[in-house]
Amino acid sequence: MENTITVTTPLLPDLDDFHSLLKEIWSSKWITNNGQFHQKLEEALCDYLKVPFISLFTNGTLPLLTALQALRISGEVITTPYSFVATTHSIWWNGIKPVFVDIDPSNCGIDPDKIEAAITPRTTAIMPVHCYGKPCDNKRIQAIADKYGLKVIYDAAHAFGVEVDGESVLNWGDMSTLSFHATKVYTTIEGGAIVMHDEATKKRIDYLKNFGFASETEVVAPGINGKLDEVRAVYGLLNLKQVDKAINARHQVAIQYRQAFQNVKGIRFFNDMIGVKHNYSYFPIFINAEEYGMTRDELYFKLRDHNILGRRYFYPLISTFSTYSGLPSASPDNLPNATRIANEVICLPMHHELSSDDINRIIELIVN
Ligand SMILES: *Cc1c(COP(=O)(O)O)cnc(C)c1O
Repeated sequence: MENTITVTTPLLPDLDDFHSLLKEIWSSKWITNNGQFHQKLEEALCDYLKVPFISLFTNGTLPLLTALQALRISGEVITTPYSFVATTHSIWWNGIKPVFVDIDPSNCGIDPDKIEAAITPRTTAIMPVHCYGKPCDNKRIQAIADKYGLKVIYDAAHAFGVEVDGESVLNWGDMSTLSFHATKVYTTIEGGAIVMHDEATKKRIDYLKNFGFASETEVVAPGINGKLDEVRAVYGLLNLKQVDKAINARHQVAIQYRQAFQNVKGIRFFNDMIGVKHNYSYFPIFINAEEYGMTRDELYFKLRDHNILGRRYFYPLISTFSTYSGLPSASPDNLPNATRIANEVICLPMHHELSSDDINRIIELIVN
């Protein structure tokens, strides 16, 4: 049997470099709570991402929870059903009602045309997702937020390093959150962050991720433990040096896929957008079963039979899970594009270590 090709593989730092930095941690005996490497990583990420302030977290879900808490969001939050389940869970965990709005097929992000109809007197915020790292239509989303006095929190878990006209998408909205999970373009094994605009907000987020401690004796809010440790900060510092190379390798994979699929009937995929610096975090294809002659699931299992492990991101929709399926906004009638696309999508293997042989093996099965 041919080797297994997984959808992704983690970005691993050089082991000798990792070891020598671990020695520094060992001799300092400072292993967590805003240590020297944590501070260095925050600084290095601000530089790399072109953002003014960042607060590191131990995963990418607690930043979502904490961003909502920090902005004192309540009532209802408008969001997308076409995402990883953590997006909606973070709303639910804050005791807020999620309100699902359909997506725009051109970028799989929330459809700005459908947001206003979902606003009620209880709406306080919008939580869009830059799905697959494709930038949302921020101008229109922000215009609606401004008109109704709503906050915007971007789940930017897929959008590490993504820029529009030279500006980081992470500077959009009131806050953006990142995930550095092992499956993401840039990883600290587990990890994440909030990007914010000012120092006072960073200070408050730093309290909230440390139980709410503002000083040794003062707790100012019911904060959580969201701290990133020194070992993973070092892992992140080393990976920052090689993430550009990894993104370039991913770009080459995307070029090969696009060339192979451009004349295949029934397969839709995304091209690069003008003015956008992409990170090639995912390579979704969308199968029109009638034109392609096979359903998405038939192709998905055919690939699996050949040890090629694509993923159906995002299927099923978050709105179909039992916690949320009873909400009026979760009805498939309210979410026609998301419902259709969830049944069309396969994210093909996409990572920095895919060989040309691997890619050709995948392409051959899909094209034939
Ligand atoms: C990965 C991901 C998260 C959660 O991040 P974790 O680091 O796994 O907690 C949240 N939202 C989206 C869209 C993601 O892809």
